[in-house]
Amino acid sequence: MQDNLKCEKALLTSSGTHALEMAAILADIRNGDEVIMPSYTFVSTANAFVLRGARIVFVDIRPDTMNIDENLLEKAITSKTRAIVVVHYAGVACEMDRIMQICQKNNLILIEDAAHGVYATYKEKYLGTIGDIGCFSFHETKNYISGEGGAILLNKAAFVEKAEIIREKGTNRSKFFRGQVDKYTWIDIGSSYLPSEINAAYLFAQLENADLINNNRLKTWNMYFNELIPLKEKNLIELPFVPDNCRHNGHLFYIKTKNLEIKTSLIKYLKENEILAVFHYIPLHSSPAGIKYGIFNGIDKWTTCESEKILRLPLYYNIEKDNIKKIISCIYSFFNLNNTG
Ligand SMILES: *Cc1c(COP(=O)(O)O)cnc(C)c1O
Repeated sequence: MQDNLKCEKALLTSSGTHALEMAAILADIRNGDEVIMPSYTFVSTANAFVLRGARIVFVDIRPDTMNIDENLLEKAITSKTRAIVVVHYAGVACEMDRIMQICQKNNLILIEDAAHGVYATYKEKYLGTIGDIGCFSFHETKNYISGEGGAILLNKAAFVEKAEIIREKGTNRSKFFRGQVDKYTWIDIGSSYLPSEINAAYLFAQLENADLINNNRLKTWNMYFNELIPLKEKNLIELPFVPDNCRHNGHLFYIKTKNLEIKTSLIKYLKENEILAVFHYIPLHSSPAGIKYGIFNGIDKWTTCESEKILRLPLYYNIEKDNIKKIISCIYSFFNLNNTG
């Protein structure tokens, strides 16, 4: 995997959450440090840093990609800021050139939560390999799965040895296995972030067929997109936006309705037709722990209102074409239209 991705080192972990926890330890996050991230993300993005004592500073997203707004980052930086965590929502990249520039200028560590973004690219570079550290998830809801699993990508040589120690309960067992030391010992803090061989083997078979899986997902994604264009043209829904310099991986397909009420009734309508469509993240800054451990910097212009409009359509490897057609027809009929013509 690390050869395909062209990163310094990729280490498998027991989950994406654990990859993020390792990243927080590697970044040496301490009590009172501030970490900037979007509020529109999964709990683990924030939790991993809160576990190290960080205060989370949430920044608004862009309504087009649902990714952190790169133009709001500088205003959120203080003398306590240690790291920026970006989330490549739906496998569509954040504006990495600009974000890298801000991190370099302010001496911040850049961590990519690329749980959605395995084998997606930004300007021909794989997501997760662009910042200092990248985190993948191989949870059963992701593109490549091992039940529970993940990986941490280390893009700086300086992090590699430390990461091996953290993953091996704080010991230099990895060096011992390579015959570089004749016994292993406790070196630093760490935990057990290793996946089992069985999970790794299950994953390996999929990574060997990564293109096949990726292309199949993209085919479904493109079919949804193309078939739903007329509804967008009638101003009934919005479709996902993928910037020119990004190649996504069909991780998920979402539409946006005009408002929460329409979304809720569309979900209900689809459910009555035996189609499971789901919403996505409830912004973290409005959750009990988000209020306790974080603060929203600036105004929540888009995070809440855009997240309320999102509805995800079924997308999994080898979903049958007839099923996709049925789902699309059902959406048309919800809007009292038919898509035969
Ligand atoms: C899935 C996911 C995670 C956590 O991954 P697990 O493997 O389930 O622990 C973290 N961040 C994002 C954005 C995710 O979608």
